[in-house]
Amino acid sequence: MLELCEMRFLIGLMVLGLWVLPGSAQELPDEFICKEGAHAERQLSRRNNSGVKHGYLINYNRCKWWVNPIKGPYFQGDVLAAFTVIENTDSVGFDLSSNLKVDRVYGKNGDLLTYRRSGNQMYVFKPLGWKAGEQDSVGIVYQGNPTNGGGFGYFVHDNHMKGPIVHTLSEPYGAQYWWPCKQSLHDKIDSLDIWVYTDTSLKAASNGLLVRNEVLNDSQRLMVWKHRYPIVTYLVAIAVTNYSEYTQYANLLGRAKPLPVQNFVFPQFRTDAERETKDVLPMLRLFDSLFVPYPFVEEKYGHAQFTWGGGMEHQTMSFMVNFSYDLMAHELAHQWFGNMVTCGTWQDLWLNEGFATYLTELVYEYLRPKQEGLIRLRGMRSNVTGNDGGSVFPKDTLNVGGLFNGRLTYTKGAWVLHMLRDKVGDSAFFEGCRMYLRGKNTTYGFAKTADLQWYMEKSSGRNLDTFFKQWYYGEGFPYVKINWKQKGDELTIQYNQMPSHNSVPLWYIKVPMLVKGNGKERFILWEPNALDASMKLKMDFQVDTMIFDPYVKVLAKASVGGINLNRVQQMPFELFPNPTGGNVFTIYARNASVISMEIYNGIGKKVRETNTGGRSTNQVTVSLEGLSAGPYFIRLNDGNFVYSYKVIKN
Ligand SMILES: [Zn+2]
Repeated sequence: MLELCEMRFLIGLMVLGLWVLPGSAQELPDEFICKEGAHAERQLSRRNNSGVKHGYLINYNRCKWWVNPIKGPYFQGDVLAAFTVIENTDSVGFDLSSNLKVDRVYGKNGDLLTYRRSGNQMYVFKPLGWKAGEQDSVGIVYQGNPTNGGGFGYFVHDNHMKGPIVHTLSEPYGAQYWWPCKQSLHDKIDSLDIWVYTDTSLKAASNGLLVRNEVLNDSQRLMVWKHRYPIVTYLVAIAVTNYSEYTQYANLLGRAKPLPVQNFVFPQFRTDAERETKDVLPMLRLFDSLFVPYPFVEEKYGHAQFTWGGGMEHQTMSFMVNFSYDLMAHELAHQWFGNMVTCGTWQDLWLNEGFATYLTELVYEYLRPKQEGLIRLRGMRSNVTGNDGGSVFPKDTLNVGGLFNGRLTYTKGAWVLHMLRDKVGDSAFFEGCRMYLRGKNTTYGFAKTADLQWYMEKSSGRNLDTFFKQWYYGEGFPYVKINWKQKGDELTIQYNQMPSHNSVPLWYIKVPMLVKGNGKERFILWEPNALDASMKLKMDFQVDTMIFDPYVKVLAKASVGGINLNRVQQMPFELFPNPTGGNVFTIYARNASVISMEIYNGIGKKVRETNTGGRSTNQVTVSLEGLSAGPYFIRLNDGNFVYSYKVIKN
């Protein structure tokens, strides 16, 4: 899922070079907010599934819903669950909000069954109970006006300007607020059928393949969706409104039949949408070839427009507020990371969101000009380092706003994957991802952070304990300070690290540096394993400039300073960088003095004038802000002599 406020951050970054800080999502009531520990576990299970003892593995759900947004949110349902009982029991349990009214519960032969409700728990009884291993089914007929307390709005009745809409969004804890289900991160529904009865003028979008779409009478249309892949409960969804529908096709590598991408959009946006959704086709091909084939390839992918302020990756049918490039990439990425393999606890949510955010970055890396991807990565890094604390591991999964934290679960999660890729190398990283997606216990199932570590260790042959411990649990990032000086042919580099948060006393990071001068450059990669370290190198050229992390691989905030003593000794003043790509250059003086300065442009016109105000100094930073690119002549007066220099602004 991705909330629009998160999107604003990235879009703002691309367009304006700045961003709006992600706001926090709607929070749960105070009574659900608590800290780590056993208490949290209890609270979590209460919130997650009302502590229901289900007693079975869920095999199949057939959900029939009578929904008519023209009349309002009130709806009726008939949900059948087919299951395998785990051990002998007299009851089977369901999660269902106490706000919904149950009319009757029926067994396999249509016989009525008794049930008991308590809060959001519901237990169904059968006269002789159930035996371990027994397969059976239970149907629940119910109705009501669903509540939307907490979360992101589980069942929403709204209007999109040109018509009323009902849409659902159950992640993380909301399915029980609109249907009787087994809410779980351990057990997926193996197979699903969804029947939606609605007004003849409306259409219903949902999971899987549309197998029936017929007008039953003057007032009623039936649409049946059939899904034959395992699906976690929170990804079951419907959206009903006066949709305009069209299908586009993605040609996937090694498949004769193209994959349909079925779009349900608000009629007023049809023209724009048809143009915009085309961009998802190359993304599908990219993920399909980079990772494993599209996980639901026998069915479809699709988008359904809704009015919640973002996107939600409902399996095979992402719900979208609009069809912006990044939002489409993010929700598509979830079909692999989140849907095919689902986070095994909410504390592992970054396995959904960090991956979806990183795969969006990969879309930029592979499908767009190289510079765009690097700009995004730098922007994401500034977002993460904008605050000294915070871990990818969420401490309080009951605070939904904190759990879906844009800066940490999404952006820091993505950056951790980016660094993991740099650590193990491209081929081991992508192979590790494929092993994780295909793993015996993870494919079409669930995964925890330890599973990702295990597959990455297997693909790379490296021990990644420290890496995962620091970057998953650890808060913050390292502040890095680098000072260099060159004397003769010897370059001395001094390194200092200050962790931003005391949860990590020393970050084990790479320190990549690019030094430049006289038209030459050299890449230096260093892995100091102390807070302070220094190194000496022989250089065959005179260094003017050092860039930390030139290829954007390290999550750190760095400052770099340095001086070439050879240059300073030869001349009373040294100016650099020269040429300068930015708006400033620095004047270094061999002897501290009062410096006055005049800047002339290429045709000899004076454009700036400044002095150090009677203060002796070794160093003056000069701004070229507002001046056009080209050569400038600098006249420097140290009180004794006037010296002339040429500076190029690029
Ligand atoms: Zn997401």
